[in-house]
Amino acid sequence: MSQEKLSLLVPMYNESEVIPLFFTTIKDVLADIDIEWEIVCVNDGSSDNTEELIIKQIEVDSRVKLVSFSRNFGKEAAMTAALDYATGDAVIPIDADLQDPPEIINEMIERWRDGVQVVYAKRTSRAGDSIFKRQTANWFYSVFNKMSDTPIPENVGDFRLLDSRVVEVIRELPEKDRFMKGLFSWPGFQTSTIEFERPSREKGDSKFNYWKLWNFAISGITSFSTIPIRVGTYLGMFIAILSFIYGLIVITKTLVSGVDVPGYASLTVIILFMGGVQLFFMGLLGEYIGRIYKEVKNRPLYVVNYTLGLDDD
Ligand code: UDP
Ligand code: MG
Repeated sequence: MSQEKLSLLVPMYNESEVIPLFFTTIKDVLADIDIEWEIVCVNDGSSDNTEELIIKQIEVDSRVKLVSFSRNFGKEAAMTAALDYATGDAVIPIDADLQDPPEIINEMIERWRDGVQVVYAKRTSRAGDSIFKRQTANWFYSVFNKMSDTPIPENVGDFRLLDSRVVEVIRELPEKDRFMKGLFSWPGFQTSTIEFERPSREKGDSKFNYWKLWNFAISGITSFSTIPIRVGTYLGMFIAILSFIYGLIVITKTLVSGVDVPGYASLTVIILFMGGVQLFFMGLLGEYIGRIYKEVKNRPLYVVNYTLGLDDD
């Protein structure tokens, strides 16, 4: 039987501060595991010397590979590219900042060898994150899982092991809006979970601010669920029924006690309220139309400048 191979997928955007430490740590861990491996690094249009540092690593070890983008396409695109180029029997996407502890890779492999196709790494504590970030993350998971047909496991990031069969399915998913956590969960298969404590970032700063995360959340929910637009239907029906009842009341009142001129305040409130509701749901519809627009344009997810150490050099 030929040796199994593991692919580590590492999106890197301006990570020069942490790259040397990342490689020493990860290689230490891999040295103790009896498996062939490759590290597929994606340079996501970094403006620092990330690329140079990766190339240096390739010079000393040809099992390190590089996909270099023509500009910054974002983490989800970088991960998609890494998945496309990976040749392993199992893949593990991992952040360059060592927030995904490489020490548990060994256990992931063991579970995979026991026969599960997906091994989740679940964060038990998020010591590195503020209370606000943790709370909003919890809300996100609960809202997402109520709305989506394919639930995503709570507090599991992109760091997980995927068997090549799962990878094949994900490669076939054509959408342009890459909500990877959702896509990773979509194929299903047998899963197993390892828990770990998520440490703070080793060096450098998080590339995601709250505004980005908020938009990421909206994008995640709208690409996996159409329940938000359905809420519009029900809310519309509900308001129509209320208006009908209110209409009956107004008519009866007018018939019984004659024309009643006051009503300025209630009119204003009703008009403003309805205007707000309508704009809100128009925006929501727009969200889905925008998504259709993006799919129809069918632009590639990323543009590769060049690769090193990979098949299509
Ligand atoms: N990343 C990327 N492209 C981007 C933003 C981030 O490839 O546009 C990479 C980054 O280099 C890191 C990983 O995605 O390896 C996670 O980023 P970060 O640590 O900033 O995210 P957080 O841990 O705060 O969620
Ligand atoms: Mg991080």
